[in-house]
Amino acid sequence: MFATVPEKVVKMFRQVFEPKEPDSARWKGPVGELKDFLGEPVWVTTCPECLGRAAVSESVRCAECDSDGFVRPGIRPGWLGECAVDRNLVAQFLAGIPRQGSLTIYYSNPKDRILLVGDWWRVSAMGLDFDEAHALRDAPCLFGKPPAEKAGCVPEIEAPF
Ligand SMILES: [Zn+2]
Repeated sequence: MFATVPEKVVKMFRQVFEPKEPDSARWKGPVGELKDFLGEPVWVTTCPECLGRAAVSESVRCAECDSDGFVRPGIRPGWLGECAVDRNLVAQFLAGIPRQGSLTIYYSNPKDRILLVGDWWRVSAMGLDFDEAHALRDAPCLFGKPPAEKAGCVPEIEAPF
């Protein structure tokens, strides 16, 4: 059974998932090429030492996971043009998207978020906080150039526009 979504909610989603300026595409290419750039997604797993018990019991202390109960993947920074993202997080978002097909990348305005638009899917990803700028300096780029003051990396692939 489907419910009718109020127009107000539809508008809110459109603001996040539809490019405001359709001609503002920054990169167009195969999904597989973006996936190769992002790498395989690494997921949060239960800590193998305490088997997650540290997350639910204060009496369980675990040095392996710092009593978190989970092993969390580290940030894998990368540049999509001028927007720095956690490549692992974006790879997780795209895990169910087949490599075939193409996508277009748009910036939000301001460029703190990117929008990935496929044939039948949309992903909106927040950019990394620039407090992590030291980690971004040598991060790879899919296209374009990161802001000069924030990174010194060389684009790996030329942008088609
Ligand atoms: Zn643990």
